[in-house]
Amino acid sequence: MRQPDVYDITIIGGGPVGLFTAFYSGMREMKTKIIEFLPYLGGKVPYFYPEKVIRDIGGIPAISGEKLTVDLIEQAMTFDPTIVLNEQVMYMERLEDGTFQLTSNNGAKHYTKTIVLATGFGSLKSVKLDLANAVDFEEKSLHYSIKKLESYRNKNVLISGGGNSAVDWANELEPIAKRVTLIYRKSAFTGIESNVSKMMNSTVEVLNPYELLKLNGENGQLSSAVVKQVDRADTKVIEVDNVIVNHGFEINLGPITEWRMNIENGTILVDQTMSTSIPGIFAIGDVANYPNKLALIAGGFNEGPIAVNSAKQLVSPQEPLNHLFSTHYEPLTSRN
Ligand SMILES: Cc1cc2nc3c(=O)[nH]c(=O)nc-3n(C[C@H](O)[C@H](O)[C@H](O)COP(=O)(O)OP(=O)(O)OC[C@H]3O[C@@H](n4cnc5c(N)ncnc54)[C@H](O)[C@@H]3O)c2cc1C
Repeated sequence: MRQPDVYDITIIGGGPVGLFTAFYSGMREMKTKIIEFLPYLGGKVPYFYPEKVIRDIGGIPAISGEKLTVDLIEQAMTFDPTIVLNEQVMYMERLEDGTFQLTSNNGAKHYTKTIVLATGFGSLKSVKLDLANAVDFEEKSLHYSIKKLESYRNKNVLISGGGNSAVDWANELEPIAKRVTLIYRKSAFTGIESNVSKMMNSTVEVLNPYELLKLNGENGQLSSAVVKQVDRADTKVIEVDNVIVNHGFEINLGPITEWRMNIENGTILVDQTMSTSIPGIFAIGDVANYPNKLALIAGGFNEGPIAVNSAKQLVSPQEPLNHLFSTHYEPLTSRN
């Protein structure tokens, strides 16, 4: 029987953090595989915000989600990792020789010496609006993410939410839409301060604490929304063409939660080496949990190399822990 191909490292999840980790793993000459559930790479970025401008990655003042994804994929491919798409990893078994066997939803088996979980929140599902007729408008005039900013030009847009995504979209849409109203059920916003200040000093109409009470419209097209002040009877009717709901994400790691790692609030506890409670399995990016965790792309870009270096120590204990620089003096492969 043909021996299975055993990888040094298998990265589960091809989001931004998994992609950068594959690049770094290639730098350390680890035989690398990425397994991604979706039919494309990039994770939340192309899924939720291809056109949003990302401004909080060091050295990149501003880049669209789409361009960042293209660049990350190019970088990840530098050392030619194996890419498997359309597979959700479900089960893990440790074989007698210490190799991990992974089984996907389609029954495919993968063999690896170490595993890096870069699964984000598992599913890419947003928390849905809790109103009976919301589903009638979904994907027509009610959205949980913004794919094309231009489609909101001259529209009356209502955003529900008070975290980074809601505030970000309010600022992005303000110059495009006819009118942007943002409602939030709490008094204090949780979005980053400078974005909240920008929104407060703009033409965005901010109503808080307010919540959505009723949606009106027909044939999938919204015409108005009734909003209510929290703990009061006061209501307002707002004319709307579109409602955008940013109420967070469903965290669902699926059968991975049964692998017996330490899990808290749906995310996986790791130590400073990015190791989970199972030796040989690491977690990085949005799924990783440790004190003061930053669920941002830039945070994951540091965790990936730490996990790879920790994995390298298991695979090749004679090698040094850290290789400090990635610099070499060949011309740039792109943009030169
Ligand atoms: C609207 C919005 C705006 C944002 N703006 C910014 C910003 O400006 N700057 C910033 O730094 N961050 C921003 N973020 C957060 C950022 O997108 C995340 O921190 C980042 O995507 C995390 O990357 P990740 O690779 O850990 O996970 P993800 O991007 O979630 O990717 C995880 C991937 O793993 C796959 N997967 C999950 N389970 C399995 C499985 N069992 N088998 C195979 N594949 C699996 C998923 O399909 C997914 O593709 C924003 C998020 C949102 C929603």
